[in-house]
Amino acid sequence: MSFSRRDFLTTAVVGSVSLGLQPEASAQSGGGKRPIIVCAGNGYDYLEEAYTFLKNGGDTLDAALKVVKGPEDDPNETSVGLGGIPNEEGVVELDACCMHGPTRRAGSVGGVRNIKNVSLVAKAVMEHTGHVMLVGEGAERFAVAMGFPRENLLTEKARKIWLLWKEYHSIGDWWGPGISDPKWNAPVKGTPQAQLWQIKYQRLEEIAANLGIDPEWRASAIHKVLFPPTGTIHCSAANEKGEVSGCTTTSGLAYKLPGRVGDSPIIGAGCYTDQDVGSAGATGSGEENIKIAGAHTIVENMRHGMSPQEAGMDALKRIVRNYNNDMSKLQYMDMTYYILRKDGAYAGVSLWDGYSEHEPHKIAVHDGTRRAEKTVALMKGYSQDYPPALGLPK
Ligand code: ASP
Repeated sequence: MSFSRRDFLTTAVVGSVSLGLQPEASAQSGGGKRPIIVCAGNGYDYLEEAYTFLKNGGDTLDAALKVVKGPEDDPNETSVGLGGIPNEEGVVELDACCMHGPTRRAGSVGGVRNIKNVSLVAKAVMEHTGHVMLVGEGAERFAVAMGFPRENLLTEKARKIWLLWKEYHSIGDWWGPGISDPKWNAPVKGTPQAQLWQIKYQRLEEIAANLGIDPEWRASAIHKVLFPPTGTIHCSAANEKGEVSGCTTTSGLAYKLPGRVGDSPIIGAGCYTDQDVGSAGATGSGEENIKIAGAHTIVENMRHGMSPQEAGMDALKRIVRNYNNDMSKLQYMDMTYYILRKDGAYAGVSLWDGYSEHEPHKIAVHDGTRRAEKTVALMKGYSQDYPPALGLPK
């Protein structure tokens, strides 16, 4: 069997939050360098140009938007903008928001179809309406009125991954080859779990081949079907004067229910900026982040004197608290915060170290030197793919 399953965390998980704080955490209570841009790891490639723009006097929000536009335009980035994995009906629905510190304004859009650069639409809501948030069809029509082109956001790659997901679930519905298919076999009672997985995996490989999914990315497509992925980009920027702004954009959870809006476009959850304090944003389990108003909580924590890292850790602990420290549930969630105080101090913090040893959570930073740094994790170990797949061999 060739697909890679995230490592089980039997050895790595700690049973209590208080044990999970890493001693090497570099809590920055003093200021950092300015100008500075921080973002999720998928923004790394776009930092150079945005930093030059910011250093030459460009606006902080425009600099942050330059970073997130990169993944929005990239058809191979399956979690943001063009090429995002669609909802359960095969339609790409995007969420985004932004906050401009110097003018203390915000804009946001949720569940937008057919428009690629939703972060810029969020900015247009902020600048060209008396509202803060537009959703669905209204947001799309507004975008078109503002001159954004309507385009098909569903790439062939994302469509095939979605179709594979549909057909894989054909045991429970009418999608995919049915009982008349020569390869259909009735389930045999008492088959061991591992063998069942092997059968399921072979079936997935066959369907993937039939759908014309390239062998090169077949294993990754299958992984995306078994464990619907998340992915998003947040970016915050501060200029030399200490002006701050932030924005977040995403295609949200793969195969979500149509109309589902995550944390990314929610001002105070996916992004929050206060010119007096700083800016913060999030990627990860959106539903969990909404319940603790993550980005707002972090900015308020900094206002009351916490360092960026302490502020982020406190927000993560609230997620843990919402589940009464129940690791049997928390192992299936993850959350990363990107935090920038207006003096340039910053932190990247996450619930877990990453998805696996090879996929640690990262914050990308440019303050004159571009780099990607591992986040500081509240709990040691790796989050688990969801939904649980008991008996799945490595
Ligand atoms: N937070 C995003 C959402 O829930 C997903 C992600 O960041 O991966 O839509």
